[in-house]
Formats: sequence, C-alpha cells, structure tokens
Amino acid sequence: MCKTLEPLTRSQRNPVLTDGYGRAVRYLRLSVTDVCNFACAYCSPDLSAGCASGQECTAQELVRIAGALVRLGIRGVRVTGGEPLLRPDILDIVRSLRALDPRVDLSLTTNGFRLSRLARGLREAGLGRVNISLDSLDPAAFKRLAGVEGLAAVREGVAAALTAGLDPVKLNVVVVQGLNDAEVPAFARLTQDLPLHVRFIELMPMGQAAQTLGPSRRVPLDAMMALAGPLEAVARPERPNGFGPASVYRRPGAAGTLGFIAAVSGRFCETCNRVRVTSRGMLLSCLAASEGLDLLPLLRAGATDRALEEAIRVAVAQKPSGHAFGGCSGARVGAGLGMCGIGG
Ligand code: SAM
Ligand code: SF4
Repeated sequence: MCKTLEPLTRSQRNPVLTDGYGRAVRYLRLSVTDVCNFACAYCSPDLSAGCASGQECTAQELVRIAGALVRLGIRGVRVTGGEPLLRPDILDIVRSLRALDPRVDLSLTTNGFRLSRLARGLREAGLGRVNISLDSLDPAAFKRLAGVEGLAAVREGVAAALTAGLDPVKLNVVVVQGLNDAEVPAFARLTQDLPLHVRFIELMPMGQAAQTLGPSRRVPLDAMMALAGPLEAVARPERPNGFGPASVYRRPGAAGTLGFIAAVSGRFCETCNRVRVTSRGMLLSCLAASEGLDLLPLLRAGATDRALEEAIRVAVAQKPSGHAFGGCSGARVGAGLGMCGIGG
C-alpha cells in the first residue's frame, strides 16, 4: 500500500505550482490529439468519440494552456496523444511551445510511424528529445500488438530521430506476458552499439489492457531485468535526461541504457511531479483523478492569463495523493478516458 500523505495546511503551501501534499509540479504531458493510426492491444483509441466534432483544442489554445503552466513553474513539456504526429500543425505546435521558454525540456512521445518524414523538422522546430513506442522487433508480432503493419516505418523513424540529433532517443516497450516478453533480450541488445535508451514499462490496467488483457499479463520488473541482464546500475548524473521514474541500467560496454518503469507496482506517487492536459483542454492532475478541470470553456469565454493561472493552481492543489492501480487511494482511473484520450 502507498504511504499515506498528510495534507499540508494553507500556511505550509508554497506559492509556486505545488499540490496540497507539498509536491512541486514541474512536468506537463500535453496531448495534442486523441486520434491514432494504430490500435495497440493494451491501449484504447476510442475513435467513436474522436475529434471530428471540433472539440479538439486549436494549436493556439493548447499553447496558451501550456504557457500558463510554464509561467507557474513547469520545466518539462512532453507532447503526446493519441498519435501527435497525425496533427497537421504539429511543427507549429512544437515551435510555439519552444518559443514559450527556451529552457523548457521539450519532448514528444510517438508511435514512430510518421517520424522518418518529420524528425528533422521537429528538431528544427525546437524539439529536444523523443520517445518512440515500439513493442516488437518481429513484423508479425508487431502487427498483432499495434494492429497495423508498420515495423519497417517505425524502424526508419528511429534511425531518422538519431540522424536528426534528437537526444536522447528512447524506445518505450510495454511488456505483455505471452505477447512480447520473450523479446526483452533482443531489445536490450539494441542498446549495445546504438545510443538508444530502451524503457521497459509495466502494463497498466487501463482501456483495452483492463478489458481484454487483465493484470495477469503484467510482467514483474525483476523478471524483465533478469531477461535483459547482465546489468550495471547507471548513476543519476550519467542518465539520459528525463523527468520519469525509471530505474536505469546499462549492459556492460553498451552505448545506450535500459530503464524499467514500475508503472503499477512502483510507489512513486509520493514524488509525482506531473499533470496532464488532454487534447480537449481538460487538466488532469493525476491518472487516477475522477474528473478534471475543463479549461476550454474558460479560454473560449475570454479568461485572462491570471484567471487561467488561478484556475490551474486550484486544480493542482487538489491532486490526489496516489493512484488507484496498486491498491492506493484514488478514484476512477483517468476520468474514465483511455490512455489515447488522456495522453500516456
Ligand atoms: N501514440 C503515441 C505512442 O504510442 O507513443 C503516444 C501516446 S501513447 C498513449 C503513450 C504511451 O502510453 C506509449 O508508450 C504507450 O505504450 C503507453 N501506453 C498506452 N497504454 C498503456 C497501458 N495500458 N499500459 C502501459 N503503457 C501504456
Ligand atoms: Fe495509438 Fe499510442 Fe495508443 Fe498505440 S499506444 S493505440 S500508438 S495512442
């Protein structure tokens, strides 16, 4: 069980973006669309509730929300989705986010399918680094997991990201028992000669994963590590930059690193530093939040920057102490949205 956090009194609260438990919020995951061209076995792209109705924020609206958060102390922004590279204005969004503050650590998570065409433009627009989701190195297994044929395109995307100078280039691998756990050693070997940083992620019980795969498909972290070994721990200053909660290792002599993210069994709620904004402008202070703050009506009613910041402060102050996955406190997961809708 998560350790119970004691709420702070009002006088103990800090004027920067801090939640009611004293955690400084420094990291934003900004979803720019809930549409996706993949149908991953564990995710839930709810295309029936897609964006064609015009509910999706414009680029200016998303950047305005991000700007308010940056003024409140956010230091890292990750652009995500759905599939962010499906947005025709993705380069403009990245350029505008970069213009908010050159010090912000600007990153993006993508399925990589369209990355070979866009990697260079993204770098030139000011993107610093990229995470590419890749769950199998075998074309048939890739198709089973992603729902489409696309391994060759994604591998071209990985190569293009390295060539464009995005750094670090991380590969996100959600490990699912019986689907791709046998490939952990092959992913680990990829880091031997290339400066790639593979992150093995525990399956989270959301969307399709909750409905069809079930928790029994989650692979324990120590089992993943045994498959990836031999491993040496990588000290914090040597790690590729990021705001995430991975435990980081390296195979002896390897160019890249291996990270293990206990998305469910880990107890990192106590140091959680992130908030999420959906492509429809909903601020979610936690994956476990039962509801979010709908910023779009505020924006469209002409709210001032100050009013926007104040609304965000109030919502962040109510960030729950912990998520619901592993038996900690918390409400309905992700305001009932899938990962595709929230932005993973
Ligand atoms: N479409 C992009 C992609 O796949 O990288 C960005 C959005 S996707 C929702 C972001 C990340 O969430 C991906 O790395 C994906 O593997 C991860 N994800 C989605 N559903 C998950 C689940 N049930 N458990 C663990 N990770 C999940
Ligand atoms: Fe799409 Fe990413 Fe979800 Fe896969 S994980 S269905 S690529 S949003």
